[in-house]
Amino acid sequence: MVLVDKNQCVGCGICVSVCPEAITLEIENGFARIVKESMDCLQKVIGACPQNAIRKIKDRLFFAVGTDDRKTLKSNGHVGKSAYFQIFEYSEGNLFLKETRENPKYKEDETKVHGDPGKAKATASALAGVDVLVGTLMGPNIVRLKNQFVCAIVRKDEIDDVKDVIKNNICAIVDEKNKKGGRERKGIILK
Ligand code: SF4
Repeated sequence: MVLVDKNQCVGCGICVSVCPEAITLEIENGFARIVKESMDCLQKVIGACPQNAIRKIKDRLFFAVGTDDRKTLKSNGHVGKSAYFQIFEYSEGNLFLKETRENPKYKEDETKVHGDPGKAKATASALAGVDVLVGTLMGPNIVRLKNQFVCAIVRKDEIDDVKDVIKNNICAIVDEKNKKGGRERKGIILK
C-alpha cells in the first residue's frame, strides 16, 4: 500500500508529472492523492518526492469506528459501549465501508466498573482483524486495548468528517501501529 503524508506534502506536483496514472493533486487542498496503486511508475514517484512524503507499507489497514446510529460517532460514552462498529478499509487514499458489526456485549457491560478487563476483552473480540479503533472517548481500558489496536481519538461527530481526519493523518497512524506493542503505544488524538 502506498501513502501520502499530508503533513509533509507541499503540493509541488512532481509526483503527478512522474506518474499521472497513479497520483493526482487535490486542487482544493493542495495535497497529492494516490488513485491507482497498481501502476509501476509509483516506484519512481516514491524516490522523486523532494519531501519524502510518499511511503510504501506492506499491510492493508482496517479501521473500526464506534457508533450508535451508523452516521455519527458515539459521543455519550466510551467507544466500547457503541451499539455498532463500522469497519472501513483504507485503500488508494480512501476509506471504504466493508461491514457493520453489532457489539453484542455493550449492554451487558452496564453493571461493570470503568476499566473492567471483561469490557476490554468484549470489545477486542468484536473487532478481530481491525488495526485501528476510532472513537471520541476510550476510558481506562485504553491501557489494554492499545496492545491490540492503535487507539485513535477524534473530535468530530459525522463519520464522513472522521474519514477525512483519518486520511489526513494516515502516516501518523501507521507510525503508531508500527510501534512495538502496547508499551510504546500511547493512543493518538487526530486533528
Ligand atoms: S512530489 Fe511529494 S511533496 Fe510534491 S506533491 Fe507529490 S507528494 Fe507532495
